[in-house]
Amino acid sequence: MSENPTVAYFCMEYGLHPEFPIYAGGLGILAGDHVKSAGELGLPLVAIGLLWRGGYSHQRIGEDGVPLDRDDARDLSGLVEPTGARFTVPIEGREIPCVAWKVSRYGNAPLYLLEPEAEADRWISRRLYCGGPKDRVAQEILLGVGGVRALRALGIRPSVYHFNEGHAVFAGLELIAEEAAAGRTFSDGWAAVRPQIVFTTHTPVEAGNESHSLDLLMEMGANRGARREELERLGGNPFNMTVAGLRLACRANAVSALHAKTAKAMWRDVSGAAPIEPITNGVHPGTWQDARIREARGDLWGAHQAQKGELLAEVERRTGVALRTDRLLVGFARRAAAYKRSDLILRKAERIAPHLERGELQILFSGKAHPQDEAGRQILTNLVRMARRYPQSVLFLEDYDMRLGQLLTRGCDVWLNNPRRPLEASGTSGMKAAMNGVLNLSVLDGWWPEGCEHGVNGWQIGDGSEEPDPHRSDERDLEALYRLLETEVLPAYQDRARWNAMMAASIQMSEWRFSSHRMLREYFASLYRAPAVEQRATG
Ligand SMILES: *Cc1c(COP(=O)(O)O)cnc(C)c1O
Repeated sequence: MSENPTVAYFCMEYGLHPEFPIYAGGLGILAGDHVKSAGELGLPLVAIGLLWRGGYSHQRIGEDGVPLDRDDARDLSGLVEPTGARFTVPIEGREIPCVAWKVSRYGNAPLYLLEPEAEADRWISRRLYCGGPKDRVAQEILLGVGGVRALRALGIRPSVYHFNEGHAVFAGLELIAEEAAAGRTFSDGWAAVRPQIVFTTHTPVEAGNESHSLDLLMEMGANRGARREELERLGGNPFNMTVAGLRLACRANAVSALHAKTAKAMWRDVSGAAPIEPITNGVHPGTWQDARIREARGDLWGAHQAQKGELLAEVERRTGVALRTDRLLVGFARRAAAYKRSDLILRKAERIAPHLERGELQILFSGKAHPQDEAGRQILTNLVRMARRYPQSVLFLEDYDMRLGQLLTRGCDVWLNNPRRPLEASGTSGMKAAMNGVLNLSVLDGWWPEGCEHGVNGWQIGDGSEEPDPHRSDERDLEALYRLLETEVLPAYQDRARWNAMMAASIQMSEWRFSSHRMLREYFASLYRAPAVEQRATG
């Protein structure tokens, strides 16, 4: 086997470019950065995904503060090239004809996007992560089973299959079915394909580790000929996609050092699981770091103020409110999920109001909730209600997407992040901010323990200890956040030389360590390293 095996990378979503909305959030952005770095570094990787014609919903906030979703089917045909590859995907006993499109216009490694050929079958790939369990399983069969078949139709024979998240694990069942067709039992087939499969787990949050009923998988045909008890041996009952991923793979990774520790403990009792190692996420510099910052080593402040001006112009265009470029601007943009505590900084009016009223602090929020996540939608409603109390200093920007992500992580002064540790597996928006000299003010969760030098390149909220009681954890972190703001962040902002030095330290800390180029090098050096060869040597 060659030193750099051909990797087939499977992911449900890709955030490659703002014009191409086939992503929902962090996972997709990460996958987009992964394939762009692979392309730029010339690494042997091809990627598999689905062509989501419905894209991801636009989300506005109604007068009453309730998020409104609007499907906005975009014409993506100018962005993809036909490959001529045709294959079928078995769903509910029918072989559905499918095609693969190719995307390579973003400097990325080849990305193949699958879709049913007939309009009538396109319900499967209409809208990312939406629908009931049956739609989800159909999407996952298209990605996993369809992915393996598309590779065959394209004449690509990967030596490593990387399931990025559990969505792709049915590819493992298809690979086992290929072995069965050659006369192997399920167990022997599983053992034969395992050395070629690697898996990445992305979240310690329970709901992010999807399960399906065994009956549904059997009915839909996701089992690919495996018996019910064989499926259960792989993924348990109900069938957990992460458990199946860990058991199908010979090697697995988590997305930061802290997340590896958390994930090892979380999946400790899964027999036959692949060992989990840390590979910390990174972001694609060409996409996320502004060229003017990269070149402006002498006058970072000047370059930053230009970016801040651009952000504030866009904010004014969208909201009619003119924020000030000479006052501290804190940014917070996250998917609305309870553990991320978007509204934390606003929870004690008596502490935060004086700073907002004096006009020394301005806060920009953004984020979407999943259309079917009531708790997440409620968080946005609360946030918007609070923003309306301080209309000149606290703003909520609708429709968080890559474009807005770029503007915010370049133009804010401080990037706030306050998840309940250890639930943020990595987080990547803080890396984008760091690369642009936007200083992180964050709980020691995800990637931040690896990057933070307190008071030098950003600030840590709290001491990194974990408080299992959510109420006490919120109280404690909120107090630490207010104290830091008042005693360190606001005073530092008045000291131009100090701020400039911190910006430089932030950029220097992040440029290589939190770049997706470093991340790709690590995936090739460890996760993708000739698994079959090593397996034979040790087994
Ligand atoms: C970077 C990015 C994310 C992920 O950021 P986190 O810090 O992981 O929450 C999500 N959505 C968009 C649009 C992004 O640009």
